[in-house]
Amino acid sequence: MAIKQLPDRCPHCGSDWGIYTKCTYHEVRCCEGFNGEELDNGEMYDNARVTGGNLVYCQSCDKVICRLSTLEKLRAATQAREEKS
Ligand SMILES: [Zn+2]
Repeated sequence: MAIKQLPDRCPHCGSDWGIYTKCTYHEVRCCEGFNGEELDNGEMYDNARVTGGNLVYCQSCDKVICRLSTLEKLRAATQAREEKS
């Protein structure tokens, strides 16, 4: 299924709640002291390598809506159109 317009709702269930992607984080640093106590892990994802996340899913029905690259292209095209008008 190819979409040609930027979707404002899910084409499957009609929900406008939102979307999500599934990313995989590699080499996430989980810090703890020698005593096993958890240390500040606020930056644990900062140096992680992220893969995946190529598909866009509906938050309501979990069905695939489109590829993330398609969504980004449509968003860029919509933004360019809005800047022109
Ligand atoms: Zn849906």
